[in-house]
Amino acid sequence: MPKSPKEIKLTNRIKRLETLLAKVGPTPAEWTVAAETKPAKTFLQYVAERLMGPPAKPGGSYGESYWICVFHNDTNPSFHTMPHKPEFKDRWLCFGCGMRGDGPDLMKELMPGEDWSRRRARLLQWRQDYEREVKTA
Ligand SMILES: [Zn+2]
Repeated sequence: MPKSPKEIKLTNRIKRLETLLAKVGPTPAEWTVAAETKPAKTFLQYVAERLMGPPAKPGGSYGESYWICVFHNDTNPSFHTMPHKPEFKDRWLCFGCGMRGDGPDLMKELMPGEDWSRRRARLLQWRQDYEREVKTA
């Protein structure tokens, strides 16, 4: 896939930072450890997992995960979660069919019979389960 201007910009920025870091000298050990630690699963990703199963492509280096989209006949995982992008921090987007939304939207789509108060209660319960899972991970 061709790189978008944004990606090229980011690549150039990383190159500049690497040049800068090379001038500064060896990286302290604690920095390396921090950089290698993958970002934790977000609550949105937890919700997506409970509704659609584990991601087809989990945990990229920026914490992004992809699912086979349940809203269209998907073969390549088009359903994106991109917590590293500020505009998609708590949102999902399908590059195949254009469906998008947040955690509650996904619940609404996949549990259509559930009314608002039950959805809210479930969301609170899932949030607690999530906090527990992240803590013990
Ligand atoms: Zn889709």
